[in-house]
Amino acid sequence: MYWNEKVETMSHEELIYIQNERLKDMVHRLYYNVPFYRSKFQNLGLEPEDIKGIEDLSKLPFTTKQDLRDNYPYGIFASPLSEIVRIHASSGTTGKPTVVGYTKKDINTWSELSARAFVAADADRNSVIQIAYGYGLFTGGLGLHYGAEKLCASVIPISTGNTQRQIMLMKDLKTSLIACTPSYAIYLADSIKEQGISLEELNLKSGIFGAEPWPENMRKEIEKKLNITAHDIYGLSEVMGPGVAIECNYKCGMHIWEDHFIPEIVDPNTLEPLPYGTLGELVFTTITKEGMPLLRYRTRDLSILYNETCKCGRTHIRMERIKGRSDDMLIIRGVNIFPSQIENALLEIGEVEPHYQLIITRDGTLDNLEIKVEVTEHLFSDKISGLESLQKNIARKMESALQLSAKITLVEPNSIPRFEGKSKRVIDKRNI
Ligand code: ADP
Ligand code: ZN
Repeated sequence: MYWNEKVETMSHEELIYIQNERLKDMVHRLYYNVPFYRSKFQNLGLEPEDIKGIEDLSKLPFTTKQDLRDNYPYGIFASPLSEIVRIHASSGTTGKPTVVGYTKKDINTWSELSARAFVAADADRNSVIQIAYGYGLFTGGLGLHYGAEKLCASVIPISTGNTQRQIMLMKDLKTSLIACTPSYAIYLADSIKEQGISLEELNLKSGIFGAEPWPENMRKEIEKKLNITAHDIYGLSEVMGPGVAIECNYKCGMHIWEDHFIPEIVDPNTLEPLPYGTLGELVFTTITKEGMPLLRYRTRDLSILYNETCKCGRTHIRMERIKGRSDDMLIIRGVNIFPSQIENALLEIGEVEPHYQLIITRDGTLDNLEIKVEVTEHLFSDKISGLESLQKNIARKMESALQLSAKITLVEPNSIPRFEGKSKRVIDKRNI
């Protein structure tokens, strides 16, 4: 099932034709409307006419989050405020929020792409969609809301929080699709179980989860605990918001809607474009946005692009699940570590919950990593010896996964704080 079959399954040649035309228009518009881009072009000795199509993409300047901060709040907008109908701001995981603006056309595009995402996750006009992402400045709630309405599904705009009420409405209103962060999905599942509600009493069939990295094991866990199909959804406010890419039922990467975005993978150090199939930093050029179009925006997200056609029939390129953020990377005793590596190793062990916290301290010049891990209820009530051997087992697994020894502290079930939005798992107490 597709929302827009013609576009979603269009041939590569047609997609490239569209991209060429739209890119050329975009470059002209930015050169003449946004002084920030005009001066970037001039510094590179580049004229809009030099860009004849996507083969010239690598001639274009990059845009970074710092550029957006330097031009805070409206400096990069390409439309006057009289055309801007919505303003969002990124959640500021890595600093001061970044302001983004949308015209009416931008909101329409976003709704169309969110609708495509819902259909890829098996929703239709008969679906009851519970949106448990935050509504407000964060793009998650409202972004998906408009797509679900466009689909004519029945939308429950519940936003985050109040897990009791989430579960009550999920049951009473027969929610068929839930959208939230993957960590909240696990929390919801556990709460449903605790309340003694069986999955048969619910009508849940699928879910779309994103806004933070989650490994394959976590998908399996969500699918099992909620008896649904779990789809990964990707997006970022600078580029649009959720719905830039979505997984189809084959779950072999997320389709990026290439009629609106041109993705690239570059080496985060040299900024050289890398071939398909290689891990690197994801970069997006928006080709239809009016409010705040961006050229070669560096996401800091690490991923891989695959261009082989997917079994689902969609021709749009696929991106691998996010492997981490290049600025999320922790350097502990000189070793590069992504929290997702730790999460993966924990999920492989099985007797622990995927709830953990990393505490990094510095003793003189030596970094210490402590990993607090929640054990399952069943194991916690077990003999001390069971816990001791589990702790040793985790320490061994971590050492081989991270090439670094860490102190493992097992903690009681439910003692690590849960987050309704993005989870904050790292507490870095070093002053660096
Ligand atoms: P920020 O977190 O940078 O303040 P946003 O709220 O727009 O800004 O969040 C966008 C970021 O969230 C992405 O750049 C990415 O790091 C993360 N993200 C979004 N969706 C996913 C996903 N499906 N998997 C992993 N990470 C994701
Ligand atoms: Zn597919």
